Amino acid sequence: SLELLDQFHDPALCKSVLERLRVTLDGQPLRFMEVCGTHTVAIFRSGLRSILPKEIVHLSGPGCPVCVTHEAEINAFLDLAGTPGVIIATFGDLMRVPGSRGRTLKAAQAEGARVSVVYSPPDAIKLAADNPDATVVFLGVGFETTAPGVAASILMARAQGVANYRVLSFHKLVPPALEALLSDPGTDIDGFIMPGHVSAIIGAEPYRPVAERFGKAAAVAGFEPLDILQALLFLAECKRDGRAEIANLYRRVVRDEGNAKARAVMAQVFRPADALWRGIGLIPGSGLEVADEYAAFDAKRQYGIVIKDCPPLPGCKCGEVLKGKLAPNLCPLFGRACTPANPVGPCMVSTEGSCAAYYKYQVD
Ligand code: SF4
Repeated sequence: SLELLDQFHDPALCKSVLERLRVTLDGQPLRFMEVCGTHTVAIFRSGLRSILPKEIVHLSGPGCPVCVTHEAEINAFLDLAGTPGVIIATFGDLMRVPGSRGRTLKAAQAEGARVSVVYSPPDAIKLAADNPDATVVFLGVGFETTAPGVAASILMARAQGVANYRVLSFHKLVPPALEALLSDPGTDIDGFIMPGHVSAIIGAEPYRPVAERFGKAAAVAGFEPLDILQALLFLAECKRDGRAEIANLYRRVVRDEGNAKARAVMAQVFRPADALWRGIGLIPGSGLEVADEYAAFDAKRQYGIVIKDCPPLPGCKCGEVLKGKLAPNLCPLFGRACTPANPVGPCMVSTEGSCAAYYKYQVD
């Protein structure tokens, strides 16, 4: 499968990094987790996974926003979809994610609920302006990458006087989730590849506890095969030398300090809150809710939405998959009861989910 390398942008450089990686590993295992779904897909799509040295164990992390949206949060979306006078505005990838009762927004829509797929929060504001008789609720799901845009939409709705626009914020924050993961004694990870897009907003600084408290190395990386190989080489060198460091290897996009403007909008409109992650449970301070000053735009307050933990869907092992404890193809439902056409869990629904990636690229 080494011919695969010829398709990469810089095959010679990839080959040399791969060779250095082999030498650095020197037969020792390296268990790495990529935190974000875009990396999961990049690792598979490029064919990189099949040419990595066998000592490298690849674990997929909790970084697909749809996958970590809790069943109870999906239930709240469904309840809201059944509320008279409400139009739900959502990104398309949430449509097929089942709640704890196995129902989806797509099914609710087929049964007559007003659910509109939008491509950006401003589309949802337009929907609200066009439907003054209804309240448009935008489902705020995503990480630090998405949250600034949703925060800006609240400012925009206020500036434009669109009073029937609301946000139901279930945004989640990556660094607290990493700390929760690393605090779990069952976690066995040598190092992390950190998400490129999230890091463009938050910078590299928030990952410091990963190294300082938990003694793990991490690299912020881009999505080209060479980016990923260089990140793996860095992790392998850290492991060999017993170093725990955080490196920003994606400087062409990620500044160490992140994007201060985007963070300021986020901090203005949202405040940190506890959040439930699917398969993981409650992580303190890992979510964002609408701040008091913008309460008029907050669906949670208006509809009295309270999220309570509930049991996972029977048989779905998404929790184990999201924590990197179980390879997707080892879930008993994988490829049988659970396929992209008939997904049981969110990790198979989202194109960034690790189960969907494993299925698409046929790992069994
Ligand atoms: Fe859940 Fe399906 Fe993945 Fe199993 S294969 S963990 S049921 S999404």
